[in-house]
Amino acid sequence: MIRFSGVVKKFGDHVVLDGLDFTVAPGEFVSLIGPSGSGKTTILRLLMTLEKVDGGTIDVGGECLSHTRRGERLVPADEKHLRLMRRQIGMVFQQFNLFPNMNVLRNITEAPVRSLGLPPAEAEQRARELLGLVGLEDKADAHPTRLSGGQQQRVAIARALAMRPDVLLLDEVTSALDPELVADVLRVLRDIATGTDITILCVTHEMQFAQDVSDRVMMFDHGRVLEDAAPEKLFTAPSHERTKEFLRAVI
Ligand code: ATP
Repeated sequence: MIRFSGVVKKFGDHVVLDGLDFTVAPGEFVSLIGPSGSGKTTILRLLMTLEKVDGGTIDVGGECLSHTRRGERLVPADEKHLRLMRRQIGMVFQQFNLFPNMNVLRNITEAPVRSLGLPPAEAEQRARELLGLVGLEDKADAHPTRLSGGQQQRVAIARALAMRPDVLLLDEVTSALDPELVADVLRVLRDIATGTDITILCVTHEMQFAQDVSDRVMMFDHGRVLEDAAPEKLFTAPSHERTKEFLRAVI
């Protein structure tokens, strides 16, 4: 379960999120859509603890991510708490951010061995299974620079899953790809969405994908949830004029 309660985020004087409330149930696949600058990536960055909240609280898996309790008071979470919470959460970025000096297998095993203390042989076996899941079992020894963008992104997805996260955050993961490479990545994500119980929050401009895969779609505008509905409702009969306008522009 993810819960945003009255979350405020500012950059200087610019209020990006102004008391945002929403929840995501365990195992749900929720797509975040909306115009550029509406705060979608900021939401993922807050969950990934790459940014700090300026107000309100964020809970993940029944625990407060943004704060720790000290007696009766909530105080901003310290680094140790953030590190523990971060383990539950995996993120895949637009730019794949693979380690360029490590082969594919090492890219996937590095964090489970170093951060989770998994025995290397176990991490490797798991990495090979994940490479199978993303259709790259033959690329274990390759270096990222020798792979296409789509293949690199599939390695990045395998790397995130190797940490066995409860929550997976996807930030425009196909935006940097050539059009002909997008389908393979979306196919992998579709398999993960249907074949696992990971909670997924997906910022995307791929409206057809969002419609096909999501349990729910949230339309954002100016840091607010303008509309929150099942995909069949939101894409075919949106309630809000602003949603209609946005969909007309992007579909
Ligand atoms: P896009 O679809 O273009 O990625 P978005 O909906 O994900 O947009 P965000 O990236 O969350 O939007 O940005 C929301 C607002 O916050 C924007 O106005 C952006 O300029 C601003 N912003 C985001 N990060 C920073 C930062 N580090 N410093 C200052 N302003 C920021």
